Amino acid sequence: MQNTEEIWRLVEAKREPFQDLSDRVWGMPELAYTEQRSCAEHAAMLREQGFRVTEKVAGIPTAVMGEAGEGGPVIAILGEYDALPGLSQEAGVAEPKPLPGPGFGHGCGHNLLGAAALLAATAVKDWLAANNLPGRVRYYGCPAEEGGAAKGFMVRDGAFKDVDIAISWHPAAFCAVNEPISLANTRIDFSFTGRASHAAAAPHLGRSALDAVELMNVGVNYMREHMPSDARIHYAYLDAGGVAPNVVQPTAKVRYLIRARDLVELRALIARVRKIAEGAALMTETKVEAKVVSGVSNLLGNTPLERAMQNNLDRLGPPPFDDLDRARAAEFQATLSDEDIASAWRKMGLPVRKGVSLCDVIVPLELKGAPMVGSTDVGDVSWVVPTVQARGATYAIGTPGHSWQLTAQGKLPAAHKGMVHVAKVMAGTAVDCLLDPGLVEAAKADLAERTRDNPYEPVLSPEVQPPFDMSKTAA
Ligand SMILES: [Zn+2]
Repeated sequence: MQNTEEIWRLVEAKREPFQDLSDRVWGMPELAYTEQRSCAEHAAMLREQGFRVTEKVAGIPTAVMGEAGEGGPVIAILGEYDALPGLSQEAGVAEPKPLPGPGFGHGCGHNLLGAAALLAATAVKDWLAANNLPGRVRYYGCPAEEGGAAKGFMVRDGAFKDVDIAISWHPAAFCAVNEPISLANTRIDFSFTGRASHAAAAPHLGRSALDAVELMNVGVNYMREHMPSDARIHYAYLDAGGVAPNVVQPTAKVRYLIRARDLVELRALIARVRKIAEGAALMTETKVEAKVVSGVSNLLGNTPLERAMQNNLDRLGPPPFDDLDRARAAEFQATLSDEDIASAWRKMGLPVRKGVSLCDVIVPLELKGAPMVGSTDVGDVSWVVPTVQARGATYAIGTPGHSWQLTAQGKLPAAHKGMVHVAKVMAGTAVDCLLDPGLVEAAKADLAERTRDNPYEPVLSPEVQPPFDMSKTAA
């Protein structure tokens, strides 16, 4: 207990520079794989705090790792810093007000995510030094969580191969251990090639690639009735074959995002979508090529680590939000519908409480809310290292993910309090692992059990390269 309190004090002692780091990254929103400045800020902070720094982890220019300590188990704390397009917003203002510039914004709170993870790692480093104990702590600055699957590429490259425990978090409306449910997914580009011709004078000579994409979409849409109910398929046109209706479109390209409960279901679904693409090519006498752009695994839970993290949350209690924080959060709730707010409570399995703008509880571990139907590249880490994640309350209850409201709240005092709070939760969990070899062993046994009949087969095959240019079209 005393040691745990010591680790909290070590987090508290360094909150200011890390709040500033979060604010700086908020102010330089960069999209997936272009986070040069944000990554440089994190690398500079690692050096300043005395970590041994490795840049360009796994050959990714915007991935960085810092390590401290000697011997003992290796505890990794994972951070992110990528922003999103279309979510620029003035800080603290409860009405849509984009800032001048390219329109990017921290609409998922990754400015806080990275800074809190680095703060936690720093406190663990200071704790190891103060207590002269063996053990290593690492901070992994991971880019491109938003669709770039960077952690999957880092796993494939062996970046986590000697890591014993991985800890992370995500900004949220409530304080909780993250329920380990997320969907495995993959993005595949289907490029069709046909033959151009004059659409009126010689239509019989043309073979339309656009027709092929449309038929593929029709085929996939008919398949929806016959796929697992928690699978998801979305698509976007990357090339509709040109702007002239009187030219038979010789090329067309569609990006598919396919999600399923686990890797086995995902692989089956991918095979069916590929068949439909081939069928569309056959029908239209075009050719199709499929290229995997990215992919992530579903998350695996880890019961011993989840219990340890919950214990830290329960001892710590909710973040110290005050009346001013609640009043500011209420301004943002006023921009949301009752349904937005009610669904946030339900998602956590909690009864709806009106008039509560910021989290004032710790969600019990046993509570089962509506499962998350998104995906995260932390999934791949969780297949190779026992992994646990927190949800840290940093914004008004009901705030939708990827929204201007979320960007706007990223620098408020409540966001800072939330990030320091969750840094304590993560650092406390790391210290539990460093003090109790039995916990590390139990966490490893739990992972071995979960993967025994179902070993890790990543979605990313060896030839798939990180999509470094994925953000070009948004820029
Ligand atoms: Zn996110």
